[in-house]
Amino acid sequence: MKAAIFDTARTDPGSYVRIGEVPRPDLEAGHVLLRVVACGVCRTDLHIVEGDLPPVRPQLIPGHQIVGEVVDGQTAELPLGTRVGVSWMGGVDGECRYCRHGMENLCDNPTFTGYTVNGGYAEYALVRADFAFPLPAGLDDVHVAPLLCAGIIGYRSLRVAGVEHGERVGLFGFGSSASLAITILQSWNCEVYVATRGAGHRELASSLGAAWVGKEDDTPPVKLDRAVTFAPSGKVVVSALASLRKGGVVAINAIHLDQMPAFDYDKLLWGERQIRSVANMTREDARQFLAIAHSLNIRPQVTAFPLDEANRALAAVKEETARGSAVIVP
Ligand SMILES: [Zn+2]
Ligand SMILES: [Zn+2]
Repeated sequence: MKAAIFDTARTDPGSYVRIGEVPRPDLEAGHVLLRVVACGVCRTDLHIVEGDLPPVRPQLIPGHQIVGEVVDGQTAELPLGTRVGVSWMGGVDGECRYCRHGMENLCDNPTFTGYTVNGGYAEYALVRADFAFPLPAGLDDVHVAPLLCAGIIGYRSLRVAGVEHGERVGLFGFGSSASLAITILQSWNCEVYVATRGAGHRELASSLGAAWVGKEDDTPPVKLDRAVTFAPSGKVVVSALASLRKGGVVAINAIHLDQMPAFDYDKLLWGERQIRSVANMTREDARQFLAIAHSLNIRPQVTAFPLDEANRALAAVKEETARGSAVIVP
């Protein structure tokens, strides 16, 4: 089968992955084989191919927002032909203290799709059957793909930030994940304040009804109840913290940050303000979010790229030039 293969970390957007032929994966117990019909490109993919996340395999097929059709290994729940989605969390051990206490996102022995196992930048992907989610009809393959990580983890971020209906919420960075989260916030009657770097992202935030839109370093005109940061920058976390009321929470939706700058505890964290990270997702997050996305009719903006142009898709995420989310179509 054709696949985009990552060998060695590089920062040159033209050569992150190479397109080549690899054997189609053999079916394994507890797994289903998918014919991939679309795979979203996530910033985490960029962290993998640029080496911000350490390599864990000599060769890897990235991609963890997989939309595919079951072509082998069918089960009662997933008959042949079922359209399913697969996300970053590709499996857990089910036995560690985190799994036993409803925190499978923190599992001690996790499988990460497109990182510890091969992902969806390919014609076929082998995935654990119990981590494949049947997808609601209504959204086509390309538009449903960004929901699978950007959407689910964006939704989890709102919960980690403790957002309540009617609150003032800041979104710092406005890529794929934030542009999906804003629709949920609006359905909760929240006022949304967006600070982001790219002019295109600011336009998108305005067009989606943000109450206020500013540049990366601008401070929202009101104190916020909650903030979620999406940019992989510690500086942005500090500016989010500086915009909070007492008792407010910043949730960091980033698997990797450049670094956390020093900040003034007395002014910024005192007053029971909190900083929390958002790690991975649970299957319950996925089910809840997919149901909400269906009921709110969330339709991401996407730019599609053929598999041969996987490097161009990754570069579009890096340079924030993709309109909405980048999606690879094998
Ligand atoms: Zn576990
Ligand atoms: Zn992701």
